[in-house]
Amino acid sequence: MKKLSSISFSFLVFSALSVFSQEKNIVIENIQKEAYENSQLKILGHELLDDIGPRLVGTPQMQQAHDWAVAKYKSWGISAENQQWGEWKGWERGITHIDMIYPRVQTLDGTQLAWNPGTSSKGVTAELIVLPEIKDSISFQQWLPNVKGKFVMIAMKQPTGRPDENWKEFATPKSFEKMKKEREDETKAWDENIKRSGFDRRSIIPALEEAGAVGIVDSYWSKGFGVNKVFGARTKKIPSVDIELEDYTMLYRMVEHGDKPKMHVVAESKNLGRVPTFNTIATIKGTEKPEEYVILSAHFDSWDGGTGATDNGTGTLVMMEAMRILKKVYPNPKRTILVGHWGSEEQGLNGSSSFVADHPEIVANIQAVFNQDNGTGRVEKINGAGFLQSYDYMSRWLRAVPDTIRKNIETTFPGWPARGGSDNASFVAAGAPAFSLSSLSWNYWNYTWHTNRDTYDKIVFDDVKSNVILTAILVYMASEDDSKTSREQVILPMDEKTGKRQKWPTPRVPERKGGM
Ligand SMILES: [Zn+2]
Repeated sequence: MKKLSSISFSFLVFSALSVFSQEKNIVIENIQKEAYENSQLKILGHELLDDIGPRLVGTPQMQQAHDWAVAKYKSWGISAENQQWGEWKGWERGITHIDMIYPRVQTLDGTQLAWNPGTSSKGVTAELIVLPEIKDSISFQQWLPNVKGKFVMIAMKQPTGRPDENWKEFATPKSFEKMKKEREDETKAWDENIKRSGFDRRSIIPALEEAGAVGIVDSYWSKGFGVNKVFGARTKKIPSVDIELEDYTMLYRMVEHGDKPKMHVVAESKNLGRVPTFNTIATIKGTEKPEEYVILSAHFDSWDGGTGATDNGTGTLVMMEAMRILKKVYPNPKRTILVGHWGSEEQGLNGSSSFVADHPEIVANIQAVFNQDNGTGRVEKINGAGFLQSYDYMSRWLRAVPDTIRKNIETTFPGWPARGGSDNASFVAAGAPAFSLSSLSWNYWNYTWHTNRDTYDKIVFDDVKSNVILTAILVYMASEDDSKTSREQVILPMDEKTGKRQKWPTPRVPERKGGM
């Protein structure tokens, strides 16, 4: 308590305890003041999401983001570095332009998938074809030569592009039920049809490529208006694109009705060989217990159909802004405060699990990890991650959070250990108390998560600001806590399937050479 020397003795006699709590309140008040009055969230969001853009592992934009974060931290007087944990296939997304050119011209809403092999700038022009009704693998093989020189449509034709909420609001209950039944039957029939070919949704793609298809056209509807999920290509040489439901189903109907639609696809991209992959790590060194760590955690990478604004731009912004504020209002923490902006979470928590494997000395001395990774909403749930005593310390820390923020949060203790989903799982598996700050959805799963609509305009800055304050206060309280957190684990329940007791998750082995 260095600051006490400046406080008069008589005051100290009154009550050392109230001086301490008063001092704490000042930090907590300053956290809020800085977060509300000098927020940097919008400019950080703009620089990261608009200027740098999506952050797919192995892309130059991912590297640019790492370098940007390090520079930001340094500008705030926080030491930061990029720590290499592996290598990945290097790839850069170029221009995608998809047009229907016959029987009429229409520019289509779609994009090439990540790691797409790419076309020349001239692109590819060809007719479209859909999968026929398949009797068995022999008849499929007989049909297969028909794909030569064609774009093959590999997604089913959705019966509606309206989300279910919309049907629920406007349809007669009878017609809503009818639509759902039809869709269920058609989905089942589609899956079974593919199965009869001897392939599945994934393995059919190389078969089509080998048979001479000039491109694969997919449409992964995310069950909202205009929303598709955009993941990686599975072709070796020919382009793979995702076309939004509206345009995809139009093309499908045209093929079915014998209109013979033709499409022109330009999907440029660059293969960049092997590139190193990093985590960005920044620290504010502890003064009393520098060997103990409070960790702020959010993955930095994203899929690249949108700009990764809510997955996990917002988690990233929360942690960066909380770090900036803590450095300003709490520059000499008791324990070391560390932030991890992890690489390649999307391919299996690779950055964070590498960090856990590479830094056992840190992991053994973690006071707490706070991870955020499910969207822009204000935090509404925290569970004790299966640590028996978590109620004790977590509720002590949460009591310091202003009521306006805390009242929205439902806590569950002792909770259960995360087995995946996001980077807190990497720490929990190593026995370290790591918690997910779980957000209110704001239609995350259908509208933004891994979609072409995960963009800046979906950020709800008031909620993100509230998460900054929550995170900064939890970090501050965890850092100041008199005792080190207990790691005692709950006895897990029986597994109903095996009849055996469930086991605590074990650390996963990170993929350190990805996509090659
Ligand atoms: Zn995420």
